[in-house]
Amino acid sequence: MAERTGEERKTGRGRRWVCRLLLLAAAVAVCLGAAARFRAELAREDALRAQLAGYEEQTQQLRQALTRNQAALDAARDTIARMEEYTLLAPDGTPPAYTQLYPELYAPAWDGAQAEYEKAVCLTFDDGPSANTDQILDILERYGVKATFFVVGRTGEADQQRLRDIVAAGHTLGIHSWSHDYRKIYASVEAYLEDFNQLYQWIHQVTGVYPRVFRFPGGSINAYNAGVYQEIIAEMTRRGFVYFDWNVSAQDATATPRPAADIAADCLKGVGYNLAVVLSHDSAARCTTVQALPAVIEGYRDAGYTFLPLNPGITPIIMGYRMSR
Ligand code: ZN
Repeated sequence: MAERTGEERKTGRGRRWVCRLLLLAAAVAVCLGAAARFRAELAREDALRAQLAGYEEQTQQLRQALTRNQAALDAARDTIARMEEYTLLAPDGTPPAYTQLYPELYAPAWDGAQAEYEKAVCLTFDDGPSANTDQILDILERYGVKATFFVVGRTGEADQQRLRDIVAAGHTLGIHSWSHDYRKIYASVEAYLEDFNQLYQWIHQVTGVYPRVFRFPGGSINAYNAGVYQEIIAEMTRRGFVYFDWNVSAQDATATPRPAADIAADCLKGVGYNLAVVLSHDSAARCTTVQALPAVIEGYRDAGYTFLPLNPGITPIIMGYRMSR
């Protein structure tokens, strides 16, 4: 092989450098390309992560919505079950036979106005008439106050006159119970209707008026009517009667009479209420209730209360249904 000239050697070295530079440039280009791709991958990964976080949030929201909807569905199913349990209609749509009993037992129409009041008190006397009724009527008249008497079945001449006196004085005469026998009247809707109708017709026979309002012995929900109160309330309401429980009690149905001052203090616990419906008793043993009455009337009067006899224009104070769970 011939010796290479100096010129040739120089040219050879130059070519090698060019080759090296080209190789280097190519390597750099490859590296740059790889880096760019890597950066793009990273960016895509970030975008995917953000998208995933978005999906996770949506999933969370959908889970919460599902829980809410499930609760609403459960409540609706519960309502349907209760309606089926409490419906007055037989499965074929016919009303129960007791709705046909006593076709005359419907409350007289009420065309009075809805009562408007800031502070009103309704004094109510259960379980009369009795010898105490005369004194109660005297006291009410002396103060110019109207009240309500939820009476029981008493047929003596004096008691008949008391019913007439109550009506003549402008008080409300309401139904309590003919027998006041809890076990008997709450045995069934039919038993309740029979007892109610007996007193309803009796009051009309004696006084010439038909009552519109009534009070359940023991209150609308008590230890004796657990299985039947919904149906009795529905039936009496369907017949147009309005019942009143109470939100203040004289606590005077005790074995031995309480001191009049204690009864008055309990009766005045309704001072401050917009509407106070005061339960007290007008049976023969309740002498201290009569003695307490002037202080009760003066207490409410001095607190600026209006005394109203109950009527269907007054929003009833009624016990709430017990929640089953
Ligand atoms: Zn009673």
